[in-house]
Amino acid sequence: MALIVQKYGGTSVGSIERIQNVAHRVAKFKKAGHDVVVVVSAMSGETNRLVALAESLQEIPDPRELDVVLSTGEQVTIGLLAMALQSIGVPAKSYTGWQVKVKTDQAHTKARIESIDDAAMRQDLKEGKVVIVAGFQGIDGNGDITTLGRGGSDTSAVALAAALKADECQIYTDVDGVYTTDPRVVPEAHRLDKITFEEMLELASLGSKVLQIRSVEFAGKYRVRLRVLSSLEEGGEGTLITFEEDGNMERAIISGIAFDKNQARINIRGVPDKPGIAYQILGSIADANIEVDMIVQNVGAEGTTDFSFTVPRNDYRRALKILEDVQSNIGAGEVNGDDTVVKVSIVGMGMRSHVGVASTMFRTLAEEGINIQMISTSEIKVSVIIEEKYTELATRVLHKAFGLDKPKV
Ligand code: ADP
Ligand code: ASP
Ligand code: MG
Repeated sequence: MALIVQKYGGTSVGSIERIQNVAHRVAKFKKAGHDVVVVVSAMSGETNRLVALAESLQEIPDPRELDVVLSTGEQVTIGLLAMALQSIGVPAKSYTGWQVKVKTDQAHTKARIESIDDAAMRQDLKEGKVVIVAGFQGIDGNGDITTLGRGGSDTSAVALAAALKADECQIYTDVDGVYTTDPRVVPEAHRLDKITFEEMLELASLGSKVLQIRSVEFAGKYRVRLRVLSSLEEGGEGTLITFEEDGNMERAIISGIAFDKNQARINIRGVPDKPGIAYQILGSIADANIEVDMIVQNVGAEGTTDFSFTVPRNDYRRALKILEDVQSNIGAGEVNGDDTVVKVSIVGMGMRSHVGVASTMFRTLAEEGINIQMISTSEIKVSVIIEEKYTELATRVLHKAFGLDKPKV
């Protein structure tokens, strides 16, 4: 008998029929003798609908009130799933995030989990009940409702698994595992049986939305055994996130390709080349709580430099405005940018022992006439900024160039 935490995403609970399917799957695990804690998302499209409602009243919705609204989506699904289970004879009880006491910090709309009170859940499990918990939500020190950022139910599930010391955390979604790239973009992508934690962390942070980045971080920190599986098909093994590289060193150089459209590039030209300039530019951006990702500084003409960096797309206008304000202070020439760029990244542990990976990437893109605007590398990834319109093409040609296409049968 094991303790399993299962998470079902929006599509998996997108209709009454799908919720009934989830109930049957949960019942099967229960009948096999396992204790089951289920985390659910809002029904598909619901969180977007709630965001749109809020934005129809305020251009930038009040974060505290937005969390009050957004958290309702998950509350509907926990109740419905509890009813679906009860109606097939499985005792089940639902909890909102604040009933469980998923304590978070106060960062509304992107709160971090600080602690979880597992007492009530343990009692219910002891009494033979399935425990159902609303994903994506918690409560802060003021007793206010918080949410964990889009895709945050993954993180709720892994955090619950860590708190309960579950034997496995199973993330059920609308694909049957983690693929070499988004299978909706590259049909030739194939499912990985296993992926290392480090690779999954990179893929998630570089834009693969199959797992929220914080869920992977949590799994690493608390060593949660994490698996991604299909809620729509029966019987697959899915993808296991492993903490050890297996002995087989004949692994692929690249494990996966990610892309992230939530990017905008900002340039400042003709900045005097002297100490403190990077700080003056980026300090003002950091003070406004805007996250900077890639940074490039080039020597420009006559003792000046050109400075470029990327920010999340929804912070683009704000970042431009801030820089226009500091422009005259630092004596910069021109501030401009582009919010139609994408970051495409190749990720793989195999890169560490192979040279020429980056140059293969650059050559492949050049052959398609795709211009690279920025580059950043680490031990196990290479990322480039390119025009957004080339997202699908770039992903497809790189997938092929690194031998990731599944063999044709
Ligand atoms: P859920 O609602 O279950 O949380 P998400 O839409 O958040 O589901 O995540 C699943 C989706 O992630 C898939 O439908 C797929 O399009 C996308 N995706 C992106 N990259 C990958 C990848 N490398 N492997 C699998 N799915 C991916
Ligand atoms: N419902 C939330 C969202 O759409 C959380 C989640 O699905 O994980 O982002
Ligand atoms: Mg998700």
